[in-house]
Amino acid sequence: MTLASLRIAVIGGGIGVLTAALALRQAGFDVDVYEQAPELTEVGGGINMAPNATRILRQLGLAEGLDREGVRPVGTHQRRWQDGSTLQRAPLNPLCEELYGAPHMTIHRADLLAVIASGFPAQHIHLGHRLVGLADRGECTEAWFENGVHITVDLLVGADGIHSAVRTALLGEEAPRFTGCVAYRGLVPTERIAELGLEGGSQSWVGPGAHLVHYFVSRGRLLNFVGWTEHDRWNREDWTDRATVTRALAAFEGWHPQVRRIIAAADTCFIWALFDREPLPNWSVGRATLLGDACHPMHPFMGQGAAMAIEDGATLAACLVAAGTGDPAETLRHYERLRLPRVTRLQEMSRANKTRFHMRDGSAQQARDAEWATAGDRSPDTLRWLYDFNAAVVEPMSAPTTALG
Ligand SMILES: Cc1cc2nc3c(=O)[nH]c(=O)nc-3n(C[C@H](O)[C@H](O)[C@H](O)COP(=O)(O)OP(=O)(O)OC[C@H]3O[C@@H](n4cnc5c(N)ncnc54)[C@H](O)[C@@H]3O)c2cc1C
Repeated sequence: MTLASLRIAVIGGGIGVLTAALALRQAGFDVDVYEQAPELTEVGGGINMAPNATRILRQLGLAEGLDREGVRPVGTHQRRWQDGSTLQRAPLNPLCEELYGAPHMTIHRADLLAVIASGFPAQHIHLGHRLVGLADRGECTEAWFENGVHITVDLLVGADGIHSAVRTALLGEEAPRFTGCVAYRGLVPTERIAELGLEGGSQSWVGPGAHLVHYFVSRGRLLNFVGWTEHDRWNREDWTDRATVTRALAAFEGWHPQVRRIIAAADTCFIWALFDREPLPNWSVGRATLLGDACHPMHPFMGQGAAMAIEDGATLAACLVAAGTGDPAETLRHYERLRLPRVTRLQEMSRANKTRFHMRDGSAQQARDAEWATAGDRSPDTLRWLYDFNAAVVEPMSAPTTALG
């Protein structure tokens, strides 16, 4: 069997899925994407793409699209919720490109998805295909879709998000749990808040039981904000997915005028409940594996969930290239072994940031602020282990191998 004859089905149609599909296709595999929705869409506004993710997207030939649609924040600025005093600042661009050869970007999710999808042939994206079952047959994997379609492939990759049907089929039923965090998400036309004279970077505001992040997207035309608050339970009947601006303002009562001005300038606000799962010890079964939120969902408090899904795709492609015509099932386990320590570390760090960001004012908060003032945990240099990592280069097979041009 040659690489080109290895048929791979990727289930899902999100950022991670399409990056994996593109990386696999560019590496020479025969790849098809199966997404349940009738069109490719991304819910929500903006997303941070750190250098470890933009590096891969650029290697896949997407630099022009990213540069056209994205924004390069000059830095991050972390501030206190009430008086706006600075807790820490860190430069991002052009430093990230100088240090790591890839920029830090912020971009609208729909734009990012469109940029990635533009690199993948549309005729290999099968919309309206909701996976309802699969079976590992040893030499192949079979899958069934709600619309009656049945496929037989050499490898199947489940990248169908936190409620993954592939994960359930492979590893059994286990419901994700509510994290106690709810986000208010909104987009504000930049000219509407011009009087704030916002700096050209990301800002995050931390306070008791909550934090709010804002940054520019859509070539700077829109400001994206996400305000996180804590709640004991999530009851869909109590909330609507579309929250009112008034409700968001009430959640950030007493916060700095800049925060409240940004929320108030939004036409509407969406609400998002955050779910989580414990890290998995493994996630491949036979010729099927998982990728992205399907196997390692994380709190978005390191801004790395989609970045890890993007890395997964690059590593998976590189592992399959390195394995050549070797045993595909063993190659999937190799991919998983390479990814597990890094994604588990980020799952744990992201979860811990909920506590760090949401401290009540008091001695622990003061100690945290003092530590941030000196340590600067946001600086690109401190995050070298995270940013200076090329997931497309894998070892060991014989020599380091890359699947990307
Ligand atoms: C508020 C918020 C802010 C965030 N900010 C950042 C950030 O700044 N940077 C970052 O890197 N990450 C961030 N993340 C995390 C990031 O959004 C996710 O980690 C990422 O989108 C996961 O991508 P994915 O492709 O694995 O899954 P998803 O994006 O969930 O895609 C899964 C796809 O599978 C499809 N699907 C589901 N079930 C089936 C089925 N049975 N059959 C077929 N298709 C199916 C779905 O329709 C969907 O299209 C944030 C998350 C949140 C909630």
